[in-house]
Amino acid sequence: MLHIVDSFGRIGEENAFAVLARATELQRQGKDIINLGIGQPDFSTPDHIVEAAIKALRDGHHGYTPATGILPLREAVAADLHKRFGVEVNPDLVLIVPGGKVTMHMAILMFGEPGVDILYPDPGFPIYRSMIEFTGANPIPVPIREENGFAFSAEETLSLITPKTKLLIINSPANPTGGVTPKAEIDKLVKGLAQFPDVAIMSDEIYAQMTYDGLAHQTLLAYPEIRDRLILLDGWSKTYAMTGWRMGYSIWPKALYEAARKLAVNSYSCVNASAQFAGLAALTGPQDAVTSMVEEFDRRRKIVVEGLNALPGVRAATPKGAFYAFPNIAETGWKAKPLASALLEEAGVATIGGPDFGVFGEGYIRLSYANSAENIRRALERMRDFLTTHQPK
Ligand code: PLP
Repeated sequence: MLHIVDSFGRIGEENAFAVLARATELQRQGKDIINLGIGQPDFSTPDHIVEAAIKALRDGHHGYTPATGILPLREAVAADLHKRFGVEVNPDLVLIVPGGKVTMHMAILMFGEPGVDILYPDPGFPIYRSMIEFTGANPIPVPIREENGFAFSAEETLSLITPKTKLLIINSPANPTGGVTPKAEIDKLVKGLAQFPDVAIMSDEIYAQMTYDGLAHQTLLAYPEIRDRLILLDGWSKTYAMTGWRMGYSIWPKALYEAARKLAVNSYSCVNASAQFAGLAALTGPQDAVTSMVEEFDRRRKIVVEGLNALPGVRAATPKGAFYAFPNIAETGWKAKPLASALLEEAGVATIGGPDFGVFGEGYIRLSYANSAENIRRALERMRDFLTTHQPK
């Protein structure tokens, strides 16, 4: 009898992948499914990025690269952050990783152990909690509230810090809510963190370039007073429509960089060489594809919010970032997960139930509007038909 270590009994999942598998299965059976479940841009990676990867392969970049990533790419990441936010980043503290997720995996492994508290947003990206539980640390949810525009509250976050707290995870613009935390609130958080010098901060900024209504993204890198304990998570997946390339990066404080590099050496060795050249082309090439993709998301955002608010029992706040809407469905009488499941099975619309993002997600479902405007309109019509003809189960 094989015995796998107990921690695997505590590791979680990302239900978006299960919903994707079910939606694909229903499609295979001939059903017409509109997928507003999975969180990935419905655009192709821009051509010049694809060409750079092909060229890298033709040029013979077939071997290992340094575990931390090729130097020109680390330099390009630093230059890009300087260009976007005016912050100084040392390329020697940039780590190229196979996807945004890997940074959270590493950061949580570095701080998580029994007896330790790790704070994370709830509702939030499900892997935070999953990895925290895997390490045996206590997952401490920071509630993300609709009445707060789905921003986190600095005061509430700070009030949850105890002497056991070793890591604080924040995410703005946020998955699953589309919430963006205002600069004033982030200022307040950083100010308060001065009292807790032993708490590391991981800022997940993977949706940094997807903000709307003229809102500028506020990076945590802009606060010199926490740079010695800040881990920044970002990557190419969302910005450049590159989810399948598995390209992410992190910026580490000097004290943690070696540990992160060793985790890389002990697991994946380095990121796919040709993908790194694609990442380089993405950062150094024209950015118009990013701009037009975000403009298109903005257009759909308006369609989805207006459409959701016209549904019986549904109330949707206007998301300020990312490409998700997180409508409140409590007044439909449905619980979130049965509703998401019935919408998929009976109405052919894939969404994700709010509780898949944490206990504070009950009463909500997540819709990704990374789908065509036409499909979004069709999905909203199907949801209307469904809600007006079906009683809550
Ligand atoms: N962080 C957040 C908040 C996300 O929503 C996602 C993906 O959905 C990731 C990180 C992971 O991104 P990647 O696909 O690059 O691993």
